Amino acid sequence: MSVLLLRDVRVVDPLGEWRGDVAIEDGAFAALGQGFSLPGAQVLEGEGRTLLPGFVDLHAHFRDPGFPEKEDLQTGSWAAAHGGFTAVSLMANTDPPCDSPEVVRYIREKAQALNLVEIYPVGAVTKGLRGEELADLEALAPYVWAYSDDGKGVARADVMAEALRRARALGKPILSHPEFPGVGHPLGEELMVARDLRLAQETGARLHLQHLSSPGSARLLQEARSAGAPVTAEVTPHHLGLSQERFGDYRVNPPLPPTEGVRGELVAALRAGAFAAVATDHAPHTPEDKARGAPGISGIETAFPLLYTTFVREGLLSLPELSRYLAFGPARILGLRKGLVRPGYDGDAVLVEEDEGFVVDEGSFFSKSRNTPVLGMRLWGKIWATIHRGEIVYIKGRLRGRDFDDHRQVVGAG
Ligand SMILES: [Zn+2]
Repeated sequence: MSVLLLRDVRVVDPLGEWRGDVAIEDGAFAALGQGFSLPGAQVLEGEGRTLLPGFVDLHAHFRDPGFPEKEDLQTGSWAAAHGGFTAVSLMANTDPPCDSPEVVRYIREKAQALNLVEIYPVGAVTKGLRGEELADLEALAPYVWAYSDDGKGVARADVMAEALRRARALGKPILSHPEFPGVGHPLGEELMVARDLRLAQETGARLHLQHLSSPGSARLLQEARSAGAPVTAEVTPHHLGLSQERFGDYRVNPPLPPTEGVRGELVAALRAGAFAAVATDHAPHTPEDKARGAPGISGIETAFPLLYTTFVREGLLSLPELSRYLAFGPARILGLRKGLVRPGYDGDAVLVEEDEGFVVDEGSFFSKSRNTPVLGMRLWGKIWATIHRGEIVYIKGRLRGRDFDDHRQVVGAG
């Protein structure tokens, strides 16, 4: 039996906070309390640092297969661990896209061999992400938790309706990237949100709306939910934390809120419970692609510090609330037993130095890409260590598999 004892930590999860010791046995949280000594356990001294449940990202692009100059499964997993994430859902717009069991199997096998964080691939809704003909959702079903054509919206209502019906029969959600091009951004988003909410009500399928950026979308969502539709939604750290008014027209899709006022409305929607999850939409690009206008932010490594600095330090969200959006909320959508520090839950944790201020610099990234408007920003809430099922995968700038093989090399025995 392997036991990791985290000694003297300030535990914060959606249910509250307390200070003491946490034992992780065979990958799951076990004993919680004070003044433990467990013979044979490995001990990590928390020295009062904050322990949160490991973060779960519903939305990331690791660009593998197809775009190794931007990212691959290894560097994406490094970046995730550095950002405090222990489970990541990957979008299907790779090359080839995730529209066949072969591609999804490649991703799962490579992720398993890396053994760093959990990777949950999403299957394509349509063949080649072309929006015309449905992918073989049944053949993909054993390997994916959901379906999405993320990168673009499924424009045809008949195709989306059929996808929702078949996904419902398979017991899996459809994730919608809500965007009708050519009608202006908020209208294009709200039109597709309205259509997909209506289709979800009609088919009874589970629908999850990705990266909502318009306050109007949040209102439509709340209406549909109060009418009983089984829908959830996510919002990104950059739409919550950055506006064009303050950060310029940094190219990202959907675009940043145009004004601080609109950004404030999105934050109000979050506080009113519109979004079950904050998801990074980690979208790495090379400097060349970014210069050519590729939309996206390499955000998985700065998500927590950005949110912590913008909201928790400013008193706009409590740390238990932020923990819910980054772990328990997305874990529920993914169907994982994560997001609470309670016996029986997966022993995934992140140790944070709340008062450790740092300037985001290019040299600190484990991702291959550094396309982010937060470079040079001063943030608080530095990730000190990340633990996946009782194994330390990141600690103080070092990664398992890259800098050490086993945490017995980096912690003491107690
Ligand atoms: Zn998208």
